[in-house]
Amino acid sequence: MAELIDGKAVANSLDEKTKAQVDEMVAAGMQRPGLAVILVGDDGASQVYVRRKIKACQKVGVTSIERRLPADTSQEDLLAIVHEMNADPAIHGILCQVPLPDHIDTRLVLRSISPDKDVDGFHPVNVGRLSTGTGGIVPCTPLGVMILLQSVIDDFKGKDAVVIGKSNIVGKPVANLLLDAECTVTVTHIYTANLSEICRKADIIVAAAGAPQLVKGSWVKDGAVIIDVGITRVMGDDGKEKLLGDVAFDECQHAKAITPVPGGVGPMTIACLLANTVQAAKALQAGNGAANDYADAPDRSMFK
Ligand code: NAD
Repeated sequence: MAELIDGKAVANSLDEKTKAQVDEMVAAGMQRPGLAVILVGDDGASQVYVRRKIKACQKVGVTSIERRLPADTSQEDLLAIVHEMNADPAIHGILCQVPLPDHIDTRLVLRSISPDKDVDGFHPVNVGRLSTGTGGIVPCTPLGVMILLQSVIDDFKGKDAVVIGKSNIVGKPVANLLLDAECTVTVTHIYTANLSEICRKADIIVAAAGAPQLVKGSWVKDGAVIIDVGITRVMGDDGKEKLLGDVAFDECQHAKAITPVPGGVGPMTIACLLANTVQAAKALQAGNGAANDYADAPDRSMFK
């Protein structure tokens, strides 16, 4: 049987570390880290995500600042709010929940967030830092993937890693982090030929395609480590909605270790958001933005 990588347990232990850091900061007379969450409109899924993020802030002692705006908020007004938050010393992380309404240019809004407070790690400055291995804020889900891998792999050097999916929010940053950890990385996507053969050679498979049960047991070599990022909602035979990952979990028990869906990568994303917020708060209060100060950027040595 493959070892089950328990995302909930790893996320809980990261939360404990984050809370300890917050307590230490406050005890040292520093400001309590503050995370601003902007929600425009009344998209149901976004409301659920925002609620979860606010609740998670409470758990680790991060102050949450929630700004709910009507769906017809103008782009100009939204940008003005972001600029205000960029200048607010009590706010160390800014998260603008996507999707934004159609009349708003999402890229423009995300780029208007100060890179030092961009706790999602989507700003081009942070993307550039990540791809040049010079610190910056690492996007939450990819950071979570690396921490889960680190929980079962001691030495990444020279491992063959395959990343399925090349999106800016998951596939590409995961590939960069694996490269940083000295893996040999193959990034694959919907047009990749012979995906099964490529996977069969891999020591590490990170599946982030959103293609349910894509990775079959026969694609996985004995002893590989599998991280399943994919989440697809489907209707079960019992008429109840269920979540499917990108990996045929039951067929992959000859792997060394594997994440379940749900309960694998999912819980890590919010835990990493909070860890990023604390990191940003420390760097900002030390007078260095998290995006610019390599020394205070999230510690990447943990991946090596
Ligand atoms: P995306 O749609 O932006 O990108 C999907 C990528 O997968 C593309 O590069 C595409 O070419 C590739 N792909 C799609 N089908 C494929 C196939 N059959 N074979 C090979 N490659 C294929 O998606 P995304 O935003 O990167 O998200 C990917 C998955 O991860 C989704 O299921 C999403 O719900 C999930 N996700 C989970 C979390 C989490 O917290 N657990 C966070 C983000 C995304």
